[in-house]
Amino acid sequence: MAVDSSCIFCSIINGDIPSDRVYEDDEFVAFRDIAPAAPVHVLIVPRKHVASIADLGDDDAAYLGRLFLVANKIAQTEGIAGDGYRVISNVGEKGGQSVFHLHVHLLGGRQMTGF
Ligand code: 5GP
Ligand code: ZN
Repeated sequence: MAVDSSCIFCSIINGDIPSDRVYEDDEFVAFRDIAPAAPVHVLIVPRKHVASIADLGDDDAAYLGRLFLVANKIAQTEGIAGDGYRVISNVGEKGGQSVFHLHVHLLGGRQMTGF
């Protein structure tokens, strides 16, 4: 599915819902989380609607790699690359996922502990 009109992240990507964008390219959009859990908390979201990494296949390997490279790039521009940061993706209900459009959280600017 390219776009899901009932999906909040699709609405953010197409501009219907405002967001504080920090990065965008042909494949990904990144914006600040509305409820930040750390001084830097950015969500990196593919433009294409996919529910989670559970829905990816072999053909998506390169694109998933590029998602991590975008995380590294934003960590640098946000000034957290040197100290270290966390990249996580919640999958499904027990994984703590609340928005079912694939995304990774980039968290930094404080000491991360546990899981
Ligand atoms: P999940 O729980 O699915 O891994 O992460 C979803 C994240 O999206 C949450 O951290 C939540 O704060 C964030 N979020 C939910 N709605 C919005 C919104 O409308 N705008 C922004 N910027 N973030 C949102
Ligand atoms: Zn979506």
